[in-house]
Amino acid sequence: MARIGIFGGSFNPPHNGHIEAARQCVEKLALDRLIFVPDAAPPHKALAAGSPTAQQRCEMVRLAAQDVPRAEVSDLELRRSGKSYTVDTLHQFQAQYPTDELLLLMGTDMFLSFENWREPDEIARMAQIVCMHRREAGGTLRVQLTEQTQRLEALGARVVMAENDALELSSTTVRRMLAFDCAERYLPADVLAYIRTNGLYGTAENRRGLSFDALRAQSLALHDEKRVPHAIGTSGLAAELALRYGADPALCARAGILHDVTKALHAPEQLALCERYQIALTPEERANPKLLHAITGAAVAREIFGECADVVRAIRWHTTGRADMSVMEKILYIADYAEPTRDFPGVERLRAALARSLDEAVLMGLSMTMEQLRLKGQTVCHDSQAAYDFLQTKG
Ligand code: FE
Ligand code: FE
Repeated sequence: MARIGIFGGSFNPPHNGHIEAARQCVEKLALDRLIFVPDAAPPHKALAAGSPTAQQRCEMVRLAAQDVPRAEVSDLELRRSGKSYTVDTLHQFQAQYPTDELLLLMGTDMFLSFENWREPDEIARMAQIVCMHRREAGGTLRVQLTEQTQRLEALGARVVMAENDALELSSTTVRRMLAFDCAERYLPADVLAYIRTNGLYGTAENRRGLSFDALRAQSLALHDEKRVPHAIGTSGLAAELALRYGADPALCARAGILHDVTKALHAPEQLALCERYQIALTPEERANPKLLHAITGAAVAREIFGECADVVRAIRWHTTGRADMSVMEKILYIADYAEPTRDFPGVERLRAALARSLDEAVLMGLSMTMEQLRLKGQTVCHDSQAAYDFLQTKG
């Protein structure tokens, strides 16, 4: 009786996190074979706009699977019509391997939502449920996993927890890093070459000198959904302030829509971007990952979108400010702070100041931030202090 692992998913694209998790499962679960099953149409969520075809995803999984011992790829879901339900796939595998043991591999998100799958009882009857999770899974996740295991076992499921030390990585992050031309370390070399050769995920697009509408679409697609209104609000307010305070409204709108373009990335990816664009960080910046998105955002604005120096500088200083800021830098700094979706105690005071004077509002914004940091026992960053001192002296 062979032990057959089944690893389904969208693999959009297949990345080193998948590969490493699969490799460790083969070894630790003593699998005789591991079958990757790319889906045709995922039942849980639609694929991101502009995703490759199912055939192309399947082709990439074939390339990635070369790096996993005892692995193969099945296009069985591609040959079925309609949504790709796991229960149907398992029926097919069970018919094909009637005397073997099937183990269904899944990540933590899928494991925690297992009851919402189509016919979970039937799935659990046909296969052992393997939850792949990272060794350093945090406290809350651990509790959730334990509770879910107990729930499923009570229903008769056979659950296996498979710890690994794979990269913490999502396909969404990898797609973002592809857009920032910084995905080498996340993808098997053959997969990256395939993506580039076929111009997948926009890799063949020239994104320099886009119209505002095109830039807006590109930028918003790289944001976490919940931060989209903030980017739109910042862009709109920056353009409005440009008219009032004598800057270029078109450039301010561009800086506004792009200013948080790398904000969705976690610290390791921020640092990877700094390396990619040869940005030397001060110890203060390195220790404070929240500051990095302004630095990497500016690099992306310049290198990927070909924005002019004024836009790049405004993005660079939008979080901290600095001494002797240009009008445009001040505008983006304060538009980020006071845009219409912001709602915090004091925002109305800030907006009132903004109606009177740009410098007054920036100074107020800086002192609010500094006060906040002091209350939390954090240090005020050097550039913010310099910005504050500069405006104080000037005033
Ligand atoms: Fe920001
Ligand atoms: Fe922002």
